[in-house]
Amino acid sequence: MRNPILCIFAFLLCFSCVEKKVETVVDSNEKKVEQDSLGNFGIVIHGGAGTILKKNMSDSLEAAYKTKLKEAMKTGYEILKNGGSSIDAVEKTINILEDSPLFNSGKGAVFTNEGKNELDASIMDGKTLNAGAVAGVTTVKNPIDLARAVMEKSDHVMFAREGAEVFAKEQGLELVDPSYFYTENRMKALKRAQEREKVELDHDDKTAFYDPFIKDEKFGTVGCVALDKNGNLAAGTSTGGMTNKRWGRVGDSPIIGAGTYANNKTCAVSSTGWGEYFIRGVVAYDISAMMEYGGKSLSEAAVTVIQKKLPELGGSGGIIAMDNKGNVAMEFNTAGMYRATMNSEGELYIGIYGE
Ligand code: ASP
Repeated sequence: MRNPILCIFAFLLCFSCVEKKVETVVDSNEKKVEQDSLGNFGIVIHGGAGTILKKNMSDSLEAAYKTKLKEAMKTGYEILKNGGSSIDAVEKTINILEDSPLFNSGKGAVFTNEGKNELDASIMDGKTLNAGAVAGVTTVKNPIDLARAVMEKSDHVMFAREGAEVFAKEQGLELVDPSYFYTENRMKALKRAQEREKVELDHDDKTAFYDPFIKDEKFGTVGCVALDKNGNLAAGTSTGGMTNKRWGRVGDSPIIGAGTYANNKTCAVSSTGWGEYFIRGVVAYDISAMMEYGGKSLSEAAVTVIQKKLPELGGSGGIIAMDNKGNVAMEFNTAGMYRATMNSEGELYIGIYGE
């Protein structure tokens, strides 16, 4: 092309074709917001990935999810806007989701094979690389609070089962009777899973094909990543694990590097999906390592890990992540993932389904 004006025109045309599709914003203003970067501070959450299809979702259920996701986002955003830390934002945002029966964490936790609820959670501070995690707790109302207490008030990184519960008591955290975690829907899911005598991943694509009731289920491990005004990243994840999980099974959510990772040098990540594969793929840390050692951008690293490396292992699920410049990745290889972002202007995105 000899004509320089034509050349520039052609270049702009090409560029606009490869530009990433912007998701629809579903905040009350229905305002579209560029989501690739959230600015000098911001927050991202997920509420689980899996077979989440529009055709299986009632309007009222969709509205309930959006309302809760929005409430969670606003909680974290206010903390960040007022100069609070990313760790505070992550914890308080996750608390909102833990207290809702819609998500597979806290109140809405799924049942184990024995009909119990055993909860896992972890949190990580990207500035100090300090981290805390708990596995298999049965009486702690908000396991993410306990993970944070482990991080800040103990010399350790992870506590499990009775030891974790004793520590929770010592720390004065809110304890509940295990019956607090009982929900009808989760019990029905357990019964169906047991009838099939198959361990059912909370979001297993395959189950949707032969389980006509799956469309009525409410899924979702929860996670949050945030960047505060001081440039500090944090990540946290909280879950009930996997329906019908065997006694003592621990998934990726409380495993630092698999379910949760944060490092100011690179990014903050929270995972959701088939935990065994996320552990084997060290998914959250792998994304950070590809950035640190491989010079990849957050988006390149997230796509490689979730769309290539994880499926090659046989795993499914997704991640949310932010880098130290406020760039965002929300990558999943399932039909959908409950997800939301809020940028430094307070503009909200909510996504549920795939593109
Ligand atoms: N990753 C969680 C686990 O395997 C489950 C989920 O994300 O829903 O325990």
